[in-house]
This record gives sequence, C-alpha cells and structure tokens, in this order.
Amino acid sequence: MMMARMRLASRLSARLSRGVSGFGTPLERHGGLFPGIKRLTELVVDRGAGCRLFTREGERYLDFTSGIGVLSTGHCHPTVVEAVREQAGRITHAQQSVVYNAAALDLIERLLPVLPSGINTAFFCNSGGEAVENALRLARQATRKDTVLCFLGGYHGRTSGALAVTSSSASYRGGRAGPLPSGQVFVPYPYEHAGVSADDTMRALDAAILQQVGGDDVAGVLIEPILGEGGYVVPPAGFLSRLREWCTDRGILLIADEVQSGFGRTGKMWAVDYEDVAPDILISAKGLASGYPLAAVFAREGVSKMQLANSCGGTYGGNAVACAAAMATLDVFKAEGVLKNVLERGAQLQAGLRRIGGGADGPLLADVRGRGLMVAAEFESGAAAYYGLRTSLAVAISHACFERGMLLLPTGHRDTLRFVPPLIVSEDEVDECLDIFQEAVKY
Ligand code: PLP
Repeated sequence: MMMARMRLASRLSARLSRGVSGFGTPLERHGGLFPGIKRLTELVVDRGAGCRLFTREGERYLDFTSGIGVLSTGHCHPTVVEAVREQAGRITHAQQSVVYNAAALDLIERLLPVLPSGINTAFFCNSGGEAVENALRLARQATRKDTVLCFLGGYHGRTSGALAVTSSSASYRGGRAGPLPSGQVFVPYPYEHAGVSADDTMRALDAAILQQVGGDDVAGVLIEPILGEGGYVVPPAGFLSRLREWCTDRGILLIADEVQSGFGRTGKMWAVDYEDVAPDILISAKGLASGYPLAAVFAREGVSKMQLANSCGGTYGGNAVACAAAMATLDVFKAEGVLKNVLERGAQLQAGLRRIGGGADGPLLADVRGRGLMVAAEFESGAAAYYGLRTSLAVAISHACFERGMLLLPTGHRDTLRFVPPLIVSEDEVDECLDIFQEAVKY
C-alpha cells in the first residue's frame, strides 16, 4: 500500500511539474486578452453535443462540468436549439418594465406548477448573482429589516451584494473590491462528514439572534439547500424542515438559493422538495435555460406583492430567447424522463465512486456524497501534503482525468472533486467517466 501510494505521488508530482496541457499555467498565448481569469485548462472548444465537447482539431472530451451545472439538457440539445431558432425569428427582446413578452408569461405559466407550494410570483433576470441581489433586496424591503443570516462555505455570486453573503468572499474579491455592504452574520453549515451537526447549526442560529444581531433585525436566512461551491454538502435529513419552522416561528424569511441545486439537478425540481419545504423566496439560474442566460427570483404572495416590482429590475431580464430555451428544457425533461435519469445515473455514479474509493487501489476517498447529479468525492485530508503535491489532490486528479479526455471540477473548499454531468447523461457515459477516474487514480 505504501509503495503504491508513493508511485502515485511521484506520477502526480511529475505531471504537475511538467504543467501538462496548461493546467495552472498563465494564459500567455492569449496575449492577456482575458487577464485575471483563472481557467482549469487552456482547452479551446468549438462545438458541443450532449455530454461531449470538441476542439477544431477534432479532439473530444467527456464534459462532466456542464459549464458549472448549467447545461441541463447537454450541449446543443436539438429541442432547445429548435426552440431558440424559432424564438429568435419571432421576438428577442421586450423590456419587462414596458411590456410583457409572451415567452416570459408562458414560462411563468409552465413554472408555477413545479414550484414549491405558495410561490406565485416570478421575476426574471440574467444571472445567479443578480437574482441573489434582488432576493436580498426583496427580503429587506418586505420585512423592513436588514440582517441576513447566511452560511459558512456558501457561495452566492460575485456582485457586491452576493459577495457580502459569500463566506469565502475574500478569495473571490482578490482584495480589490473595496468594502462590501454590511448586515450579514455567518453560521456553520451542517456538515456531518466535517463533524457539524444540525443541532450545532440551530444553536448557532439562536446565538446569532441573541448575541450577534440583538433585537429582531433579521430579515432572512439565506441557504443553499445543498452547498454548491462549498463541496456539494447535503444537510442532514430533517434540517431544512427544522430551519423552515425556526424561520416561521420568528417571522424570518427563508431564502433558498437553488442556483446550483435547482431545476432538476438533484432528481427533483428543487432540492427543498426533498423535505417538502416551501421557502418564502427561491432563487434559480444556471440550469434553468440549458445554457442561455436566465435567472429568476420566485416569491410567495405577501412577501412579494408590491416589493418585487420595486426591488428588481434590469434591461435584459426575461429575454424571450432564454425563456424559450427554458420552456424547451422543460419539454425535454418530460419527453425524456430526465428527473428519473438524474436519480438513476446519480446512484450509478456514487456507487461507482465508492467502489473505486473502497478498492485496494483507491484508499484516497474520504467521502462520496451528493444528490442526483450533484456528486462530490472528497479526498482524505492531508493526502495532497502526504504526496508532496503543490496543489490539492482534486486538482491533480482532475488534471489526470483531463489528460484522459474528461473534464471535472475541483472545488476550493477542502480537497473535493465535483461530478456535474448534463442531466441527460447516459449509463454508458457514467461508466466511461468511472473508467477514466479509476485510471486517473490508479497506481
Ligand atoms: N448562487 C449559487 C448557489 C451559485 O452556485 C452561483 C454560481 O456558481 C451563484 C449564486 C452565482 O451565479 P452566477 O455565476 O450566475 O452569477
């Protein structure tokens, strides 16, 4: 075992010191066209189909990133492409504070039945960060309170308001963004693998009210029902219901950021559906329109009646082409039984990863977790240092997978790799992913 580990260490170190395929290398050959943007690879892709990406030179890659959880129906699904073509020839833009566009209204009609109970208002914008900003403003206006309780490890975007509720914001700001809006208090996310129980979190919420915030200034609790960038952490069973009750008892709004966990990614339309929890405000983006920029703030009546219109805004929100893509995504979900596929492929992926991690060749995995096709593999803490790597094991192994034709996402939190394929991924493609992963960690 020890010899095997040492062989792996030297292979990974050698590969990293060669800087194979541009991993972690500066983008010099782009002449500074995109300064400051860190990329996982220097791959230039020209075409996509389903779970595959292609370069102009004809290389092909298995895409288990989906553009960070965006491409629900995969690259260029024919139904989505056709809907976009049709809409582009009909009307593309109608400013939502001037007139309604029919595509946006049709989309709301289609979404309301699949939203958690009580939600009956929608407002469209373009990105997750923008939707988070609007949701926070809405919560503060509706309650006339300022403080928002949010979670350590959470990520909500890179606009100033979204950064302010993101616990690791310093690393995203790069120290340059100046002061952020205040009025938030962070509590630990319940994370059983890391020894934080639901009780610990509930106690921290109580303490935040009693000690840190004081009085009753809390507008809302902002939570990712499954921690996304923080490593695909699923809270313990019953936690979301407890949180719902806790908020209701105190007149605090529950704001679910489902930018990453929503719209079918977990095998249900929303991650809160796993506990039948109805948030007061729900935020969606990413997978909503299978690659077209669309985000939404949904709210229940009472929270939103007047305030939604006053809180939200923006020129391009509810773009008709993006709305058509979202409706086509729903069509594909129905026609191809996508939610069922998500559950089956997710179970296949997790079982395969556990098999690899538990085998004689793979003692590296400390935890495999997730829901549906939001799956993470966490490596043993200290493993990277043990191997003398200059980076995390997740980065090293994603690198090794890339060399074998597959894209995976490491996270910045702990030593974790994420598997986020399009929701239409096939059984064979999951097997292919597992084969590549096994090869990458083999020694
Ligand atoms: N909220 C969550 C949970 C996210 O994961 C992200 C992006 O990763 C955002 C908000 C921000 O979304 P966007 O990048 O579209 O602004």
